[in-house]
Amino acid sequence: MSTNFFTDNDDLKYYFERGIDWEPLVKLNELNYRSPDGFDNAEDAVGFYREILDMTGGFIATEIAPHVPAMDHEGVSLQDGEAVSPDKWNEIFDQMKALELHGMCLPRELGGMNCPLMIYLVNNELLSRADASVMNHFGFHGGMAMAMLMFSISEGTTDFDGKKGVITKTRFAKEIDEIRRGDAWGCMDITEPDAGSDMARLKAVGEQDEDGNWLVTGEKIFITSGHGKYHFVIARTEKVADPDDPMSGLKGLSMFLVPTYEEDEDGNRTRIVEMPRLEHKLGHHVSVTASLAFDEAPAHLIGSRGEGFKHMLTLMNHARLGVGFEAIGMCEAAYRLARDYAAERPSMGKMIDQHEMIADYLDEMRTDIQALRAIAMAGAYAEEMSQKIKLALQNDPPADALEQKRLERSEKRYGRFSRRMTPLLKYLGAEKAVQITGRSLQIHGGNGYSQEFGTEKLLRDSIVLPIYEGTSQIQALMAMKDALAGIMKNPQGLVKRMAQTRWRSLSASDPLERRVAKIQLLAMGAKNHLMTKVAARKVRSLQGKPLAQWPKAFLKDWDPKRDFAFAMLHAERLTRLLSDELVCEVLLEQAQKHPDRRELLERYIDRCEPRCRFLHDEITNTGARLLGQLAEPGDDQADKAEAS
Ligand SMILES: Cc1cc2nc3c(=O)[nH]c(=O)nc-3n(C[C@H](O)[C@H](O)[C@H](O)COP(=O)(O)OP(=O)(O)OC[C@H]3O[C@@H](n4cnc5c(N)ncnc54)[C@H](O)[C@@H]3O)c2cc1C
Repeated sequence: MSTNFFTDNDDLKYYFERGIDWEPLVKLNELNYRSPDGFDNAEDAVGFYREILDMTGGFIATEIAPHVPAMDHEGVSLQDGEAVSPDKWNEIFDQMKALELHGMCLPRELGGMNCPLMIYLVNNELLSRADASVMNHFGFHGGMAMAMLMFSISEGTTDFDGKKGVITKTRFAKEIDEIRRGDAWGCMDITEPDAGSDMARLKAVGEQDEDGNWLVTGEKIFITSGHGKYHFVIARTEKVADPDDPMSGLKGLSMFLVPTYEEDEDGNRTRIVEMPRLEHKLGHHVSVTASLAFDEAPAHLIGSRGEGFKHMLTLMNHARLGVGFEAIGMCEAAYRLARDYAAERPSMGKMIDQHEMIADYLDEMRTDIQALRAIAMAGAYAEEMSQKIKLALQNDPPADALEQKRLERSEKRYGRFSRRMTPLLKYLGAEKAVQITGRSLQIHGGNGYSQEFGTEKLLRDSIVLPIYEGTSQIQALMAMKDALAGIMKNPQGLVKRMAQTRWRSLSASDPLERRVAKIQLLAMGAKNHLMTKVAARKVRSLQGKPLAQWPKAFLKDWDPKRDFAFAMLHAERLTRLLSDELVCEVLLEQAQKHPDRRELLERYIDRCEPRCRFLHDEITNTGARLLGQLAEPGDDQADKAEAS
C-alpha cells in the first residue's frame, strides 16, 4: 500500500522536474514577482507547490484511501430534508479544513495559498486515485470560491491595486471567505428533468419583483453537492424568439447565485431551496447527487441578463479539465491494482502478467495513462496561461507596446490550444477511465467482481465520467464543429498545412517525427473529407435557387442540424482521431526536449497508428446508407444522392 500518491509517481515527477515550463506561469501567478508576501523566483515557488502536493499526497494515501471501502458501503442518506454523510467523511473534511486546502488557489489577500490551477488539478488526480466522491465534493469547495472570484472579475465588481498587485475589493468576499475556511460549499445547477445536453430547453425562470430583486423558480436534478449553501443556477430570463432554434434558446439564459438558506443575524437558518430527493446511483455513493426545488428563491444576477450560457461555459471549461484529471486518478488506481495483482497471481505455470494478452493490456493501460496526463498537463497549462495573461492585460498592462503585443499573441495561442484540447481531454479521459477500470476488473477475474478488491467500485465510479460535465457525444460534437469551423474560415490553410505535413512525413530527419506527421495527415484527411461532404451537401441543397443567393448561403446561412449531418455522424470517430493526433504532438514536443520521453512516444505511436488508419477508413467509407435512412422529407434529394 502506497503511503504517498504524489511521490510514488515517476510520471508526475517528470512534470515537476522537467516537463512544465514553470518560469512564465509562476511569473504571472506572482504578478511579476511584485506580490509583497509572494515568491521572488520560480524555483522557490515550485518548491512550495511540491511541498503542498507531497503533503496532500501523503494525507490522501494514509488518511483517505484506507477508509474509502467503508464509506462507499455506508453511502449518504436524506434525513429530514438534509443530507447525512458518514462520520469518517465529516472527519476527512474537517482534516482538509484544518490543512486549509480549500484556499489552495485563492490569492493570498483573500486568505489563500495562491497556488496555480495546475496544482489544484494535480491534487484532484491524487484525490480521485483514492475516491471519486471525495474528489468531487472537494471540488465544490475551492472550485466554487474560484468561480465566484472569476465571475466578479468578469462582471467588473473586483478592484485591483495594480501597483501592489493585490485585490482590494471583490463582490463575493464574504462567501469566498466562508468557503475558504471550509464552512460552506456550493454547486452548479443546470440539469432539469427535461433538459440535460439540450440546455436551450431549460425551464427554470429568473424574474424580478417590483423592487427589482431577482427570484428563481424551477426544478433542478442530478446536482452534485446540491446540499451546499450556494448554488450557481442557470435560469431563463428572456423569452425565446424561436423555440425550435437551439441558439435562440441559449441566448435567453442568465446565471444567478442563489443561497440555500435565509439567515438571521444570530445565524438561525431557514431552508429556501428544498432538497426533496437524493439519487441512488451505481457509483459515487458518498457524493450527494440531489434534486432541488426553487420557489421564488432570492437570487443574485451574475453579470448581465442573457449571459448565462457564456458564464456556464467558463465554469464547464474548468470542470471538464477537472474530469480529465479525475479520469487519470481513477485509471492510475485501476492500473496499479491490476499490475500488482497480475504480478502475484499464478496461472498455467506462470504469473498472469507474463501471459502475453495480459502483458499487452497492462502495457496499453500504462501508455494510455501517460498519454492522458501529457495532454491534461499541456491543456491545464495553456488554459491557465491564457487566463492569467488576459488578467494581466486587463489589470496591469505593460507600458511597452511591443511587450503588450507579445502578450496578446501569447494569450491567443494558449487560448486556441486550450479550446482545442478541452473537449478532447474530457472525451478521451472519460472513455479511457471506463475502459481501464473495466480491464483492471477483468485482470482480477472473479475477484475483480467481488467488492473486496476495489476494482468493481472503480468501474462503477468511472461509468459516469462520459455522462457528466457534457456527455462524450457532446464533446465529440464540439470538437468536430471547432475543427471544421477552422477549415471553413480558412480552407487554404488546411491545403497548405497538408502539403507541409506531407513533406515532413517524408523528409523529417527524426523517424518519430515522420510517424507523427503521418498521423496528422490522417486527421487532416478525415477533416478534409468531412468538410468536402458538408460542402457538397450544401451545394446540392442550393439546386434551383438563384445564383445570387449562393454567396450568402455559403458565408452565413448554415443550418447546423441539416448541413453538418455527415460530420455529426462521424463526430466521435473524428474526435478519437483528433485525440490521437493531439497526444502525438504533445509527446513529440516532450521527446524533442527530453530524449528519455522518446520511448513513451514510440509506445503510443505503435498503438495509435493502426487505430488512426482504421478511423480514417471508417470516416471516409461509411455513413451514407444510415444518413439516407435518417433523412427528413426536405432532405430527400440530397440524401438519396448521398446514399447512392
Ligand atoms: C452523478 C451525476 C452527477 C451530476 N452532477 C451534475 C451537476 O452537478 N450539475 C448539473 O447541472 N448536472 C449534473 N449532472 C447531470 C449531467 O450533466 C447530465 O446527466 C448530462 O448533461 C446529460 O444530460 P441528460 O441526462 O439529460 O441526458 P440527455 O441529454 O437526454 O442525453 C441522453 C443521451 O443522448 C445523447 N445526446 C443528446 N443530444 C445529442 C446530440 N445532439 N447528438 C448526439 N447525442 C446526443 C447524450 O450524449 C446521451 O448519451 C450529473 C449527472 C450525474 C449522473
